Amino acid sequence: MLPSAEKSEGDGEEGSVSNWFNGIVDKVQDLEIHDKIGNGMDNMKRTVGSFHNSMRDAVADLPDVSMPSVPVVKSAAERQINLACDPSSAGDMGDSARAVLLLEKIKEKFKDRLEADELAEIDLVWESLGGKAGAEDGQEADGARKSITSWYMPPCGPRDLPEGWLEEMDRLDFDLRKVVSHVGEQSVLSSVCLYIFRGLGYLEVLGADEEVFTSWVEKVARGYAPDNPYHNQVHAADVVVTCKGFLMNSIIDDLESKLEGTALLLAATVHDYAHPGRTNNYLIATKHELAIRYNDTAVLESFHVSSAFTIMQEPNCDVLKGLGVAEYTTMRKRMIELVLATDLTQHFSTVGSFKAAVEGGAMDMKKIEDRSAVLKVILKTADVSNPTKPRQIYKYWTNAIMGEFYAQGDEERERGMKCSPFMDKLEPSLIKCQMGFMDFIVAPLFQQFTNFVESKCPGKSIREAMENLTANKAIWQKVQAEYEGASALQFCPDSFF
Ligand SMILES: [Zn+2]
Repeated sequence: MLPSAEKSEGDGEEGSVSNWFNGIVDKVQDLEIHDKIGNGMDNMKRTVGSFHNSMRDAVADLPDVSMPSVPVVKSAAERQINLACDPSSAGDMGDSARAVLLLEKIKEKFKDRLEADELAEIDLVWESLGGKAGAEDGQEADGARKSITSWYMPPCGPRDLPEGWLEEMDRLDFDLRKVVSHVGEQSVLSSVCLYIFRGLGYLEVLGADEEVFTSWVEKVARGYAPDNPYHNQVHAADVVVTCKGFLMNSIIDDLESKLEGTALLLAATVHDYAHPGRTNNYLIATKHELAIRYNDTAVLESFHVSSAFTIMQEPNCDVLKGLGVAEYTTMRKRMIELVLATDLTQHFSTVGSFKAAVEGGAMDMKKIEDRSAVLKVILKTADVSNPTKPRQIYKYWTNAIMGEFYAQGDEERERGMKCSPFMDKLEPSLIKCQMGFMDFIVAPLFQQFTNFVESKCPGKSIREAMENLTANKAIWQKVQAEYEGASALQFCPDSFF
């Protein structure tokens, strides 16, 4: 049920929008986050009714394809609208600030499609939450946005997951979005990690208590930018869960110690930490501070893993404190080499040497280097596993990554640079991008991993992944053959997925 604008004036009824806002205002004051937000929320009470209507209409009007990021923005917007209009789902201050950031984004991206009064509504809500205050003293809108973002400290703490999901997560068709619906996007990474680490006994391996693990993983989760269409904490959680699935469906029985599994899942947790939503090549070309810091070499990967260890130095966050010196050294070495292996410039050499080892029959699971090579391959397969999932899951992630690509392309165009391959939304080549990714990156890697599992892991199989890959590729072939606008597609066409 969505409360009407009149109702939002507040009649004291349980669950009304007014009560919801009053609750939030109290919470803000209790937490002493920022009194501007408290005042802003108070003002927002007056605008929530019209906020809802204009947003709902604006979003309903957005087409499914042919505009950048629409599928992603649309689902995020729907969530925020529901939040703003359903008091029972009100979580916290961060949720509301996020709604406002989203409004701003929608306004910017879709200004041509919104009526003047809708734009005015958006301004009003934005201002009432303190955006205008942040823009004082000559700060530009960007400064204001940063100001709001810095107030916006979403809770990223873990929530409980149902019993039985631990086994379900080993299925290769497990849909991470199910966890997102259960705990919310901001809690997905910490919830998944605590649940799995607890369930597999990895907390004991680390000798870490839950409190320390929780505060570390919460900080890691908070580092993932919620605004990135793809490289956000949902992707990180997806890679953690997929890694666990591949581990359980391959070498888990052969692991000499749980230390290796722990290293793998810790690496998966941090493997895209604070990703800026831009590629290494872009950071290098624009002389980004990270490219300068890491000498243009595995820029992001070095940054992700180094940051994860920096967080461990914060109070109450050292998840590796319980390890002995030798174990710590091994764990750190493993985590670093695993995250660095996700750099796609290493892809062909990693796959090549893995293939030679598997086909040559030289793979010895008692050897530490060979087990380490398998762990690398597991993290890499999980990281690029989207096309090996059932088509609805594949479609979701494809639209997300394309949204992020086009955002980079837009920025490149603004800077007068040549758009990177597949990132120019004005000259999209979605099918070529996806088929190339499947043929050159995903298929050779999964083929070798499948061969390995079948030759070295009796009774285990990941064949389903290759089958899904073939099926997803067939969809693109069908689109190409039967869809007139195939060559101009920016996102996956609904009618084929
Ligand atoms: Zn990744």
